[in-house]
Amino acid sequence: KSGEFVDALKEELAKNKLTDQVNIVKTGCFGLCAQGPIVIIYPEGVFYHQVQPKHAKKIVSDHLVKGKLVEKLLYHDNDSKEIINKLMDTPFYHKQKRVALRNCGRIDPEKIEEYIAFNGYQALAKVVNEYSRDEVLETLKASGLRGRGGAGFPTFMKWSFAKASISDQKYVICNADEGDPGAFMDRSVLEGDPHAVIEAMAIAGYTIGASQGYIYVRAEYPIAVNRLKIAIKQAREQGVLGNHIFGSDFSFDLDLRLGAGAFVCGEETALLESIEGHRGEPRPRPPFPAVKGLFGKPTIVNNVETLANISQIILKGPEWFASFGSEKSKGTKVFALGGKIQNTGLVEIPMGTTLREIVEDIGGGIPNGKRFKAAQTGGPSGGCISQVNYDVPIDYENLKEIGSMMGSGGLIVMDEDNCMVDIAKFFLEFTVEESCGKCVPCRVGTKRLLELLEKITMGNGTLEDLDKMEELCHHIQENSLCGLGQTAPNPVLSTLRYFKDEYVAHIEERR
Ligand code: SF4
Repeated sequence: KSGEFVDALKEELAKNKLTDQVNIVKTGCFGLCAQGPIVIIYPEGVFYHQVQPKHAKKIVSDHLVKGKLVEKLLYHDNDSKEIINKLMDTPFYHKQKRVALRNCGRIDPEKIEEYIAFNGYQALAKVVNEYSRDEVLETLKASGLRGRGGAGFPTFMKWSFAKASISDQKYVICNADEGDPGAFMDRSVLEGDPHAVIEAMAIAGYTIGASQGYIYVRAEYPIAVNRLKIAIKQAREQGVLGNHIFGSDFSFDLDLRLGAGAFVCGEETALLESIEGHRGEPRPRPPFPAVKGLFGKPTIVNNVETLANISQIILKGPEWFASFGSEKSKGTKVFALGGKIQNTGLVEIPMGTTLREIVEDIGGGIPNGKRFKAAQTGGPSGGCISQVNYDVPIDYENLKEIGSMMGSGGLIVMDEDNCMVDIAKFFLEFTVEESCGKCVPCRVGTKRLLELLEKITMGNGTLEDLDKMEELCHHIQENSLCGLGQTAPNPVLSTLRYFKDEYVAHIEERR
């Protein structure tokens, strides 16, 4: 859609002989997907929303030629009934804090000069010229940054283990194999700000003593792949990748590896197998990748969003980063907000924001006057947050406590019309499909669990089946080899915990 609008805009500019005077910049995602495509006209910064190719003519003739705003394309706030001209003034952004997404929608991701103009590669220069490796680790430790890919492992610790491992070769890997249904956080960062990831990987390489990195990205993300290729080429040309970076002894280079879309390849050891050219199946741990990873060498695997925070921590200081968030979960978290919500899109919130704030203040509430019922975080690995926990501050610890998990950041909102048993079934079908089959508890256990769920939804279940399901869930959690199997029962367990009445209703309806 955006591409068609750009084509129409170019045509109108040509007709009005404005091609030399107006520069069209294709950015990454602004976040407010529900109002897209969005166009912002500079220098005034006025934005138009839900633009279509047919609107290009009016934008050029009225705004660019006559200096008049195109009223019908301006954003009207539903609550205040006012027109809001600046994108960041819309309520959608009021409670957000953009750290990982800072440049998305702001710079041309295909121009390294624009990244540099917003302090890009300054953190790498600072680290290489002024920091010892231990000082980088101390900075990360003080920031409290934890992995944004799911489990929330402290980033400094992962890097410390790899630094401490003695080897002639080490690797830095960016895990961009985003596979959760409804999640598009990594894609947006890579499409909107690829240099942020490259810079952070170089900082990681300096810190652990690695000279080679790989970005493992889904082949289904062609724009991200293309922009990464451009960014890597530009980074090499500018000398921020390659030999003697900033005149130092430090050398680091990067390559892309494309994933074929298997969900399990987002598990870090399966990802390593895939890069090595093997079938993507998880490895038993220990040894952990930081000790024995890619090709048997010490390796760190970091998620896209984790990396996108690194340069800001170096430049603005760990105290600045730690000033957002809750006691044990510092900084911000990006969520892909979808489902029954007005403002679907990409949001970045300080840790500790409540689900109510996300749904009502940022998300604009539930459409059609319906009531909030639950939200699923963490995709197929996560669980449902019910109305009971609507005001619980979202962070790693609290989500675990209430039976969900942060996961990589999918957040799907459900209203009163959603059947929670169907939701659990949907996610379980996904994990059954994506299980690599290497271990029995996951390969067989999730199938048996799905059969029980199907029996219930078809009206043939019994109350004893609920006990069997719960027992099977614990067995799968405790005995599966990797995170995919260990977390697969979460949607079933959390819906059983908060919505058992809906399971019982399915069972009793048949009587
Ligand atoms: Fe494969 Fe599932 Fe076992 Fe993980 S838990 S190794 S995905 S079968």
